[in-house]
Amino acid sequence: MSENTTKQGKLIVYSGCSGVGKGTIMPYILKEFPDIQFSVSATTRAPRPGETNGVEYFFVSHEDFQQMVEDDGFLEYAQFCDNFYGTPKKAVEDTLSKGTSVILEIEVQGGANVIGKVPDCVSIFILPPSIEELERRLRKRGTEDEETILKRVSQASEELKSASIYKYNVVNDDLETAIDEVIAILRKELAE
Ligand code: 5GP
Repeated sequence: MSENTTKQGKLIVYSGCSGVGKGTIMPYILKEFPDIQFSVSATTRAPRPGETNGVEYFFVSHEDFQQMVEDDGFLEYAQFCDNFYGTPKKAVEDTLSKGTSVILEIEVQGGANVIGKVPDCVSIFILPPSIEELERRLRKRGTEDEETILKRVSQASEELKSASIYKYNVVNDDLETAIDEVIAILRKELAE
């Protein structure tokens, strides 16, 4: 079979407010679908304890990030709570063209951007049962200081307004149920 006839992989846009549990659900997705490639974003945020450069993110300086923007190196990028986050374009395109599906775990400005550019992407938004519950989970996670928690909660209220542009909305009230729902969505979409 020539390269031109290789079926493109599916682009999956996976978003949800900070603290909603999307990062908790992600390993279950990757375990269930080992062929889906996780897109490693670049960010100017400092690594959290336990995070490794090139695994969760490429941790870069503001200057390097800016250079990638100027070089048109991002499929999308956005500013989120004082930091920049972007999806390296070439890695995603190369992977999709080999027929492998790619999942982008990105916030909603970037999500809206990708949904606009790639209308046939599979878009999933994870919602919290309520803003109060989201705030409780962010505090329990304990990875952010008080100021950042409050910024992320206020950002979340804004982000929820964009949930309707995603093809699928999944409420993470009970974790197992949410995982099952996301897996069922992907099983159906990837089979098409
Ligand atoms: P965190 O700092 O908690 O790792 O991520 C903050 C937010 O940025 C999360 O909603 C995460 O999904 C999002 N994010 C991570 N990588 C990217 C990216 O490449 N582009 C965009 N637009 N958002 C991203």
